[in-house]
Amino acid sequence: MQFETLAIHDGQTPDPQTGSVTVPVYQTSTFEREDLEHRGEFFYSRIGNPTRKALESTLALLENGRFGLAFASGVAASLAALQVLKPGDHIVAGLDIYGGSYRTFEQLMRPWGVNTFYAASESTESYEACITAETKLIWLETPSNPLLQLTDIRAISRLAKERGILVAVDNTFSSPYFQRPLELGADIVVHSTTKYLGGHSDVIGGAVITSDLALHTKIKNYQGAAGAIPAPWDSWLILRGLKTLKIRMKEHEASALQLARFLEQHPAVEQVFYPGLLSHPQHELAKEQMSGFGGMLTFALKGGLPAVEKLIENIRLFVLADSLGGVESLIASPAKMTLGPLSEEERRRRKCTDNLVRLSIGLENADDLEADLLNALDKL
Ligand SMILES: *Cc1c(COP(=O)(O)O)cnc(C)c1O
Repeated sequence: MQFETLAIHDGQTPDPQTGSVTVPVYQTSTFEREDLEHRGEFFYSRIGNPTRKALESTLALLENGRFGLAFASGVAASLAALQVLKPGDHIVAGLDIYGGSYRTFEQLMRPWGVNTFYAASESTESYEACITAETKLIWLETPSNPLLQLTDIRAISRLAKERGILVAVDNTFSSPYFQRPLELGADIVVHSTTKYLGGHSDVIGGAVITSDLALHTKIKNYQGAAGAIPAPWDSWLILRGLKTLKIRMKEHEASALQLARFLEQHPAVEQVFYPGLLSHPQHELAKEQMSGFGGMLTFALKGGLPAVEKLIENIRLFVLADSLGGVESLIASPAKMTLGPLSEEERRRRKCTDNLVRLSIGLENADDLEADLLNALDKL
């Protein structure tokens, strides 16, 4: 079955008791046992809940994996995936990653005894050079945030496998509609379902998907023991979002491509970062490992931070906010917002300059968005 059919039907059969076409919200903390010796599949909602289960199995199918687990947030999902490591192990991660993942590596994993080494996100050789005898996990985020650099998932997975190293991919930016890392050789996929999978800026959630039973069992045990599970209502909202993922992603992408091309032509713009552009240095890799280029784009303004501030002041349709992947277009300054807590030197290392603007392209009419951008850019 094709992607959009799985998103609507699998793991979501009509409720056996009532025939309800949508999976009910099982807003219950506990379930009656048969007797002291026997309990059903569900007995306590931290360990398992039918609404969450429907979400988890649909997430697994969409990533073409065997097992899905849902979490209370993307960072909770990432931390759960990292539990496959033990103190003394090393991680190699891309330098251009979600700021919260960097914080998890530095503020939670490092004191726990797991050190992370950072590779240039776009260079397979750089990842290889960071590997030590203790490296047990390579953590990829591709396309990266905020520079939309790509990492070759297939090449990294190949070299990792030869060395017995696991590969985890944060697939939040692409969504499984455009990129399925498990098919390219990765072992674990992580999502912030807050973004495209939920898709409506109304819920926080995360997910871990794998086809490896041993990894799944370890992460599932952690899920139950640590308890960062999504509520039934939140699970239901994400499940509802998944049903329209395909049509949303196609629309996000078409508009992002139009706006990327428009921005590339505007005299106030220094550079546009979008994998769908011919000018993107890894456009060929994008065509190989992704089936579409996504709805996120970043650009650099010639006028520096003052131009960024002025653009934000004059733009009307783009909401100044963190996050991404919703129906409404968002605008952000990576240097001031997501990577604001880092030192200037750390931002420089990441090539996160003050003149960057990141856009999450929503589902408004693309010509309206273009006119809004043109109006604000012409005032710089
Ligand atoms: C938002 C985000 C996260 C963290 O997810 P939360 O749901 O906010 O906890 C992780 N990775 C990426 C790429 C993200 O954009």
